[in-house]
Amino acid sequence: MEVSTAVVWDHLGVTIALTPWDQRTETEQTIALEVLLHGPLARSALARRLGLSPASLTRLAGPLVDGGLLEETSDNGTGPSGRPTRPLQVVAAAGHFLGVRLTPDAAHAVITNLRAEILSSAQAPIGDTSPEGVATTIADLVDRLRTEQGVVPNRVGVSVGGLVEAHARIRSSPFFGWHEPVDLATMVRKATGIPTVVDNDVMALTRAQSWFGYGRGLDRFAVITIGVGIGLGIVIHGELVESPDSGLGLAQHFPLDAAGPLCPLGHQGCAQAMLSDEAVATRTSVALRRTVTYDEALDLAAQGQPAAKTVVDQAARALGRLIAAVANLTTCYRIIITGEGARLAEAAGDAMQQQAAADRDPAAAPLHLQTPHLTPDDWAQGPAVLAIQTLVRPFSR
Ligand SMILES: [Zn+2]
Repeated sequence: MEVSTAVVWDHLGVTIALTPWDQRTETEQTIALEVLLHGPLARSALARRLGLSPASLTRLAGPLVDGGLLEETSDNGTGPSGRPTRPLQVVAAAGHFLGVRLTPDAAHAVITNLRAEILSSAQAPIGDTSPEGVATTIADLVDRLRTEQGVVPNRVGVSVGGLVEAHARIRSSPFFGWHEPVDLATMVRKATGIPTVVDNDVMALTRAQSWFGYGRGLDRFAVITIGVGIGLGIVIHGELVESPDSGLGLAQHFPLDAAGPLCPLGHQGCAQAMLSDEAVATRTSVALRRTVTYDEALDLAAQGQPAAKTVVDQAARALGRLIAAVANLTTCYRIIITGEGARLAEAAGDAMQQQAAADRDPAAAPLHLQTPHLTPDDWAQGPAVLAIQTLVRPFSR
């Protein structure tokens, strides 16, 4: 399928710059997606993965290389016959994507190529928290990064802690006090002239880890985020598990300690009451009769301060219980623990590991826990990956 023009217009009259991806057939896109997710791949390996004969693959891959979507890597390996294998990879510059993560007081943006590699980043404070004010802040960041890189992004992705409908409307966001649905995707699209999608921030982070991060190539894994709230993302059979309730943060109220403190919803010892930054800081402050921050509570526990150590150890055991519950109920035994509060997993790792092991069947697969320090860039890469997915998988979502 050849497309003669480089642009099309959407229903809002917004111009969409076409990429080499848009101009390929569905079969060719399937091949390119396999290379994007698993490449670089030798032609023989790619043919095997797709169940194609080497001759068919060579015929189908030709237009992808000629069309600027796939290229041969420069570092040639050698195949069994001793001939160079010349693995294929996706041409990084075949698309550009903006990812913007919103937090209560700032927006952090990255611009990536089609392989989700971050080219540069920028951030801006959010002073005006009205929908129009937030959309303007996003549009300014998009403008800044597109000018700096000298490219027109093909899609914009935005992530926020909140309930997001149809990757477009924010149904509620406690961050900004929005209780009426806000069609942020359309607002940003009108302001930037670029098609825009919106995602819950934990969902976005998990999808980015699945395609390009710590979960790349894994059939199943989970992400637990610890911070102001407790988040959970699950990938099964390589697909992010999504539901209309995903942005509610349902894991926050999972019961972990029948003797624990109450959360604002009245749950005794739920994840939020036991694990959130605020919960640990508040419980330590009450015990010490002076205000301490979350980090101070962890520091005091490490120094052996008895009250701080009790609170932090209880929190760590609750985290171990949550980890075991996730593994037991979802069969994900690889779990990434991250977020502002993930220091807990390192500060009281022994208590966490002991509780997680105690709650597992001894015959079950050993847990594989990772505690990467993910930066604001990594979080902003999340919505950029949703933006990439809307380009490369238009048929499935
Ligand atoms: Zn609760």
